[in-house]
Amino acid sequence: MVKKIDHIGIAVKDLAAAIKFYEEMLGLKATGTEVVEEQKVRVAFLPTGDSEVELLESTSPDGPIAKFIEKNGEGIQHIAFRVDNLEEKLAELKNKGIRLIDEKPRYGAGGARIAFLHPKATFGTLIELCERK
Ligand code: ZN
Repeated sequence: MVKKIDHIGIAVKDLAAAIKFYEEMLGLKATGTEVVEEQKVRVAFLPTGDSEVELLESTSPDGPIAKFIEKNGEGIQHIAFRVDNLEEKLAELKNKGIRLIDEKPRYGAGGARIAFLHPKATFGTLIELCERK
């Protein structure tokens, strides 16, 4: 079962400028930044209530976030739902014929285990499933 919205991923061109906006204008506080090499991205998490905003800046012109911005401009790139048992959920969705980007969990920022569902299978939204210890 999905427990809650874990975070909303927002693609930005300039991470420092985006953090400054969220901190100074909206009063959120970034809990540090991290580079996830595999996804060619630098991320910052800003907790708000029970969820977080994840700001994503590409570290390479051929990374998925750079490509997203090239195609769509800056903005919401994915929504992440928290699950308890990611493997189980992925197996269940695969059995039901849902198109997955990741059939196996991979590393996500902050030590989470994550996997993406294909937007073609989710009515147009890139959905991340996220398991945290
Ligand atoms: Zn995410």
